[in-house]
Amino acid sequence: MKYFVGTDIGSTFIKIAVIDENEKLIGHNTVFTGSHFHENTVKAVGELLGRLKISQDDVEYTVSTGYGRKLLKEADETVSEITANVTGVRNLSGDNGKIKTIINIGGQDLKIISLDDNGNCKNFAMNDKCAAGTGRFLEMVAKNMEVDVSELGNMHINASGLPVSVNSTCTVFAESEIISLLANGHGRNEVVAGVHFSIAKRIARLAQRVGVEDVIFFDGGPALNRGLVLAIEDELMRDIFIPDTPQITTAFGAALIAKDSSVLEKETVDA
Ligand code: ADP
Repeated sequence: MKYFVGTDIGSTFIKIAVIDENEKLIGHNTVFTGSHFHENTVKAVGELLGRLKISQDDVEYTVSTGYGRKLLKEADETVSEITANVTGVRNLSGDNGKIKTIINIGGQDLKIISLDDNGNCKNFAMNDKCAAGTGRFLEMVAKNMEVDVSELGNMHINASGLPVSVNSTCTVFAESEIISLLANGHGRNEVVAGVHFSIAKRIARLAQRVGVEDVIFFDGGPALNRGLVLAIEDELMRDIFIPDTPQITTAFGAALIAKDSSVLEKETVDA
């Protein structure tokens, strides 16, 4: 059996996906990006292959994507995050009908991608350089609440009062606003819910630029946050589909592209 590897080197996490010849996802790995992008990616790939008992020689082709994609010199090819993401989404939509809109939130970016009837990218909108509404913003909130970012979803769900409105969009101002809301006695859960609604409003504004059509797919690490999902559904007044492993969609897409590229390469050599 031959295998294909996709590496998504993000600003916050490195995600690795391995698929087999039947395009089945057989394993994935998520590690902190840290400051040693190349070294940490090579280590994460090695760890995953070791866990799956796959030898490097059985890896036919590797495609790298994400913010740090060009740093992985060992990759056979690099592709943009949007290309890899859209490819992964097309293959993960299952029985949910045709995906027409993707909301993708990463460590420092926020994208809305609109797809045509064939599942190709038709148009997209992206945040500017500001971190508002991104994974970093949520990490700042978690730090101020003294919890792990994975706990924000439950805090939102456990809020007993109304979400407290958080008006600052800039991360630095939002941090001061959150600290002052807590100092004024507002509940932590209600403030977290307010943060999620402020991000959801930002997403809705960005989405207006490309137009939102059902079915909507949400991926990237923040899609693991159930509270944020509820806030976005509420703001867009639509249901959103979230895959089982939303953080690895882009790495999975890169692995699928690796398989296609390897077939193309073979056909060219054989011709
Ligand atoms: P990137 O590709 O830019 O590194 P990711 O798609 O990996 O970004 O998303 C990273 C963000 O996902 C983090 O900044 C954090 O906000 C969020 N995140 C990561 N793990 C979880 C989790 N278990 N629950 C909720 N949010 C999470």
